[in-house]
Amino acid sequence: MLKEINHIPEELLVARAEDLLDLLQTPTLFHIEGTNPQPLFICTLLHGNETTGFYAVQKLLNKYKDKTLPRSISLFVGNIAAAKEGQRRLDSQDDYNRIWPGSHHNDSAEKDMMQIITSIMEKKKPFASIDIHNNTGKNPHYGCINILNPHGLVLASKFSDIAVYFTDPKGVQSSAFSDFCPSVVLECGQAKDQSGADHAFSFLETILQLDELSSENSNSVTLYHTIARVIIPKAVALGDNSNEHRADIILNEQLEDENFHRIQPGTEFASFNSNKEKLIIVNSESSEDITNEYIERKDNKLLFKKPVTLSMFTTNERAIRQDCVCYFMEELHIG
Ligand SMILES: [Zn+2]
Repeated sequence: MLKEINHIPEELLVARAEDLLDLLQTPTLFHIEGTNPQPLFICTLLHGNETTGFYAVQKLLNKYKDKTLPRSISLFVGNIAAAKEGQRRLDSQDDYNRIWPGSHHNDSAEKDMMQIITSIMEKKKPFASIDIHNNTGKNPHYGCINILNPHGLVLASKFSDIAVYFTDPKGVQSSAFSDFCPSVVLECGQAKDQSGADHAFSFLETILQLDELSSENSNSVTLYHTIARVIIPKAVALGDNSNEHRADIILNEQLEDENFHRIQPGTEFASFNSNKEKLIIVNSESSEDITNEYIERKDNKLLFKKPVTLSMFTTNERAIRQDCVCYFMEELHIG
């Protein structure tokens, strides 16, 4: 199901993300030659509705349309079937960013495809790997890394002064590629916001011009560590203010404006109207249920017990059901 091509079709330079399925038919790995043969790997549309990465790369390809790239690029354009529908993934599909080597998901043709791309790229010894995403909720732009090594941190620091280190979920592209090259995930805010594509484009330009990721030209970053991921069990009905009488739980919408802010104990996470024992589950990085460590029930409210920093908090039900409500983070200080 994977296609590999050594040129950029003219139509790709003007295509919309939703047109890529008609244009390419299958997920496609492009190799474009540049002056320095060691490629930069760029990954886009692992989530079909996260279009910023594609538009950033498109801008880059247009810029170098009649010029030689300073460095070769290998570009993966991922879930174009979901992109056509404006969805993260189709219900019939695996999540394209949970099935890379290291994944706990069941075998599938899509999982095999990610294994093949990883093998192809490992042999090419990439200079770096950059995977570009968007958030559903409101977040600043930030980079994510999966191992704490100097080159990965330098790479992330060139994108934002905020970086997040995470090891869960498993099977993400950046984690698989961290085994053989510096790897970063760019979180570029909401897909509808053009500033995300502009920012990702200028980052790609910067990295393409670099000869090495030396820590001498590293920028300073505030580094967070993801400690937990919050999900809502399938059996729990999620409400908003329009259907509160039928809902088991209603999330505190105000937290959408609090991503990357420190939440104080006593702050409301959600209100509830249900006898169900588990309304939310706070899962640690090692997949233990640590809900009671962070959240307490008082009257009909779920309240934070400890100070914690949120990321990716959203009240969008589809995003929550396909992924999660938010992550809890702590600031990490490294020497
Ligand atoms: Zn994503």
